[in-house]
Amino acid sequence: MRAAGRIVAEVLSRLEPMVQPGISTRDLDHEAERMIRDAGGIPTFKGYHGFPASICASINDEVVHGIPGSRKLNEGDIIGIDCGVTYQGFVGDAAVTVPVGHVSEDVLRLVEATKASLYAAIEQCQSGNRLGDVGNAVEAYVAPKGYTVVRNYCGHGVGRAMHEDPQVPNYGMPGKGARLRPGWVIAIEPMVNLGNYDVKVMSDGWTVVTTDGLPSAHFEHTVAVTEEGPQVLTSLGNHSASQS
Ligand code: MG
Ligand code: MG
Repeated sequence: MRAAGRIVAEVLSRLEPMVQPGISTRDLDHEAERMIRDAGGIPTFKGYHGFPASICASINDEVVHGIPGSRKLNEGDIIGIDCGVTYQGFVGDAAVTVPVGHVSEDVLRLVEATKASLYAAIEQCQSGNRLGDVGNAVEAYVAPKGYTVVRNYCGHGVGRAMHEDPQVPNYGMPGKGARLRPGWVIAIEPMVNLGNYDVKVMSDGWTVVTTDGLPSAHFEHTVAVTEEGPQVLTSLGNHSASQS
């Protein structure tokens, strides 16, 4: 899983600087697929319930599951890029939200708070803590800033399949829910909205958007629970819970 996660991290770190005004989401997708296959991996998303691409590309009010295509990025957009890789039978899953050129202060703050809420949740991935501690860490971080946490979608266990038990909501009651144990690997993925938390699926059957049209940000890491604390499997750093 560490090897699968490493490929995901390499793809996302390659795509991030490619995010510039004028590039299409299809260009990003093609680069991701090329890198994944060159590394000996399989793009987990491609063909998953018929999804046609190797990344999800979700712009502005699109929350998750946007389909890459001819749409070009504009200055001031934000784009969520979600990538999954299967390597030797195991899956890594991670996402980042990247500003396109200069982005308004309020949107930039949303993006930064969403990222920070992911790391607050990762810190809670200690053996003996409960899933409610993880989810609560996200909401407790963003709600005081006036943001809302998407209810209809959540994180998940990850292993030989991308989506395994348990579900990992981005809200919860501290001390409630299943107890985390060493050996668990979960994908934590806060989806945080500038406006209200209501979302709907577009007519393409995939793209999830906010109903109020306001922007949403999304970050995700695949995290292992160990006796020594959480290990981020989808970062390029030292796999500790530090922000990298
Ligand atoms: Mg993902
Ligand atoms: Mg996921």
